[in-house]
Amino acid sequence: MKKLNYINGDWVGEEFESIDVVNPATGKVIGQIPNATSEHTNLAIEAAHKAFPEWSKKTSLERAAYLKKLHALIVLNKEELARTITLEMGKPLQEAKGEIDYANSFIEWFAEESKRIYGETIPASATDKRILVLKQPVGVVGAITPWNFPLMIAIWHTMPALRSGNTVLIKPSEFTPLTTLRAAEIINEIVPAGVFNIVTGDGSIGAAISPHPDINKMVFTGSTPTGKKIMQSCSGNLKRVTLELGGNDAAIVLPDTNVQEAAPKIFATALMNNGQTCAALKRLYVHEDIYDDMCQALAAIASSVTTGDGSGEVDFGPIQNKPQFDKVTKLAEEAKASGARFLTGGEAPAGPGYFFPVTIVADIADDTRLVQEEPFGPILPILKFTDVEDALQRANDSNNGLGGSVWSSDVERATQLASRLECGTAWVNAHAMIQPDAPFGGVKESGIGVEFGRYGLEEYTSIQTLQITKG
Ligand code: NAD
Repeated sequence: MKKLNYINGDWVGEEFESIDVVNPATGKVIGQIPNATSEHTNLAIEAAHKAFPEWSKKTSLERAAYLKKLHALIVLNKEELARTITLEMGKPLQEAKGEIDYANSFIEWFAEESKRIYGETIPASATDKRILVLKQPVGVVGAITPWNFPLMIAIWHTMPALRSGNTVLIKPSEFTPLTTLRAAEIINEIVPAGVFNIVTGDGSIGAAISPHPDINKMVFTGSTPTGKKIMQSCSGNLKRVTLELGGNDAAIVLPDTNVQEAAPKIFATALMNNGQTCAALKRLYVHEDIYDDMCQALAAIASSVTTGDGSGEVDFGPIQNKPQFDKVTKLAEEAKASGARFLTGGEAPAGPGYFFPVTIVADIADDTRLVQEEPFGPILPILKFTDVEDALQRANDSNNGLGGSVWSSDVERATQLASRLECGTAWVNAHAMIQPDAPFGGVKESGIGVEFGRYGLEEYTSIQTLQITKG
């Protein structure tokens, strides 16, 4: 089945060359999408540009009503969307349903909370003046998404954009375009033509979107190297950018932590989405007093879970694509060669499918690539520390700075330490909890700007100061 692109309220793209979409559990082709040309992309941007004046004129309450309708439509289409996520991304069906409910909770929040992106009135120094600060939409927002959460990240990028009065062009990952295409179709049952457009294709199409002079803001989630290219390409017309890039999050587990209580939580957050989550816990630093207990507890959980085709009754699906599978396999091989101790997993079974077992690695050196680089797969290195200051220095010794966490039964002490982690979000006794009312973003090379909360919404607006002199 070949899917088309949705531009200006119509399906187009039959004439373009196709890209195959593969089920990572079987290696079989499950659909095809157009590899859009830049001409195609220009048409979509032109449609979004033309739709902007009318859409931005709508009142806040009118736009909220669109989002509320969309929320209801997503509930109606949940089963189909979930099956599509599992088919193209690989995650188990139950988890795919969870992704939809979670994404929908953000739509609900944006519908309600955006009423509160107020401007302000500044007391003027002269009595004949009034100064108003307005938050205006920026124009056309270009969104480029990765393959790990095909619906959720598309919603994260585009709903605050629409809600604030902008129009949108989205390009999903070429590995997982089918869910986003279906979501675009559902969104277009509601919004006027040209407000929400989608083109599909590989990185070359992304590279045609980001420099375009009629795109006013880019929002991107994906790898740091691609994020850097996008930022460079945005300089032509000084676009606003929000970049959510890679993370290699560290967690520090203090000696007073209750291992039996913390281990299942640590496992869940490190392995969420099969480890393919930007803000998953990826480097675990454990105090020497509880190191062996924690290793044992995590290995016991890892030994009890199942990996297989996400359409069956399994805990974990495959890695989403071959390049990522190859990367995880290579990192595991190198760690083994370095003398690290594998408590579980470590080797992929014979194909088909990009399956890799949940792998827990102990006694691993800091300079191993598995510790230095984000693996983005089901593999967790556990490192030992004696001195807390040393653990903090090792945790911060990274170009990434997305998230981090501290685990302890002394919440005050953990909070103090968490505030010294160099990252956009630091959690205490939790990790990777992202919610619509809390800003989320990276520092260092993990990104620029934030999503969510009032701060995230404001990134989809520009400040306009109105200075009014009484006549
Ligand atoms: P990627 O950066 O290669 O691709 C992400 C998106 O960017 C895709 O839609 C791709 O087509 C597009 N793209 C590629 N080159 C482009 C260019 N020059 N200009 C514009 N767009 C371009 O990332 P990926 O292959 O999806 O994932 C690889 C890595 O990204 C992962 O290993 C992980 O490190 C990171 N990642 C991070 C997150 C996060 O949430 N922060 C999510 C997914 C992936």
